[in-house]
Amino acid sequence: MSNVGQNIKEILQELPEGVKLVAVSKTKPISLIQEAYNSGQRIFGENKVGELIEKATELPNDIEWHFIGHLQRNKVKSLLPYTALIHGVDSPRLFREINKHSGNMNKTQNILLQVHIAEEDTKFGFEEEELLDFLEEEDVKNAENICISGLMGMATNTEDEMQVRREFDKLRTIFLKLQQGYFKDSPQFKELSMGMSGDYKIALKESSTMVRIGSAIFGSR
Ligand SMILES: *Cc1c(COP(=O)(O)O)cnc(C)c1O
Repeated sequence: MSNVGQNIKEILQELPEGVKLVAVSKTKPISLIQEAYNSGQRIFGENKVGELIEKATELPNDIEWHFIGHLQRNKVKSLLPYTALIHGVDSPRLFREINKHSGNMNKTQNILLQVHIAEEDTKFGFEEEELLDFLEEEDVKNAENICISGLMGMATNTEDEMQVRREFDKLRTIFLKLQQGYFKDSPQFKELSMGMSGDYKIALKESSTMVRIGSAIFGSR
């Protein structure tokens, strides 16, 4: 037995009511995920399509699989049957591809739009201006097979806590603006996915509703 169950229990105790834990199980074996499952965890995050499908096929059906990485458009079709939520929709083209394929499958796919908040330019996502323009496009407003459930972002990987806090604050501000404006009649726009093992405590102070935690549960990769 590993410490997985205990780690999850300790993290859950730190989460305010209503905040969801996504256990990031990428690269980790089925046996460890099963242990987490046995301790009650039901939401798992993966960042490779093939790996997610393989694990979803082997593990219990009541697991909610979240795709958390950068998604290539040519993998959308195979992923859709398996995923409850796609966290990182980071471009108009990806958005349209998901809407098209989920339409073909008569599905409504829940997604989060990824916003670029980090100073590092290696991270994917919409800039704020770009996001606002995108949401005004007719086909985006009318997309019937996609449900925009909120926003997701990743802070810079740095020891500088003030910087991380500023970046999360920026994302929260954009989220609130959209929630009170553009999405004011859309109660499903409610999730703010931010915070990983190294920075989730800061993200919680900035009103995260979903933390994506891997190494603090399963050990380093
Ligand atoms: C790997 C990953 C995580 C989890 O990272 P940890 O530092 O192991 O908690 C969270 N979000 C995304 C997008 C990831 O790729």
